[in-house]
Amino acid sequence: MIVKLATKRGFCFGVEDAIELTEKALEEYGAGQIVALGPVIHNPQVVQKLEEAGLNQSGKIDEIEDGSTILVRSHGASPELFEQARRKNLEIVDATCILVKKAQDAVKKLHQEGYQVIMIGDRNHPEVRGVIGYAPNVIVLDSVEELDEKLPHRDKLGIVAQTTHSPEHVGEIIGAIAQRPFQELKIVNTLCLEVVRRQEAAIELCKEVDVMFVLGGLHSANTCELARLCRNYGVQTHHVETWEQFDPQMVVGRQAAGVTAGASTPEWTIEDFVSKLRAFDAHG
Ligand code: SF4
Repeated sequence: MIVKLATKRGFCFGVEDAIELTEKALEEYGAGQIVALGPVIHNPQVVQKLEEAGLNQSGKIDEIEDGSTILVRSHGASPELFEQARRKNLEIVDATCILVKKAQDAVKKLHQEGYQVIMIGDRNHPEVRGVIGYAPNVIVLDSVEELDEKLPHRDKLGIVAQTTHSPEHVGEIIGAIAQRPFQELKIVNTLCLEVVRRQEAAIELCKEVDVMFVLGGLHSANTCELARLCRNYGVQTHHVETWEQFDPQMVVGRQAAGVTAGASTPEWTIEDFVSKLRAFDAHG
């Protein structure tokens, strides 16, 4: 079996920066002295490593002692949370990705300009929960089916999207919104190019293989989106976190396997998977 790798895969600069900042903060403040407001990234293996290095990632701001140090992860946080942290006299290490900050600023500006802000995204995702805090009454939707119920009869609509969504998915919803009555539609492109490049490379690879492996956290939005795009392309696709979830049945009758990985998947996971898949094939 041939094993091919996507030309763009794995860690993005936002995740690399967040991990670097976290490691520096651990050195500076010491193990056990910083509380992250949830897992730093959506990758259980990296989360475990940081936990072992002394980072507490289960923090809820209400439960953190006054005067402690908190880490805001790459997904960012709402202004309300920053305000709450200041009231509790917490020191803040801010690892918000610059592209998430851009989405936060866009929401704020659209509201100031008088637009009804619409965010295309998953309302349970921490990035979305943070971004919508930058303007009042932001409407969150993630499918064309929700438009009837949620789209307001307003003249001025301003749209942003969750950074990790695909242009294909966002374009479909914007296209449907554009067919409804409105006076003005302003779209700010908040999609992350790092994610888009990984999506394009995965689709390119789908053309050359008959089974795809998408490596990364099962709760990582951009990894799930990569798997969805590969499946939509029509290639049998398996989303796994590590080699431990590989099953020989996954490659029965297949000639060529493609491997890609989400923006929060470390290179060591990719290398381990690829070398074991190659060795499995050689002995299989
Ligand atoms: S995927 Fe994009 S938006 Fe998310 S952390 Fe990485 S660079 Fe930032």
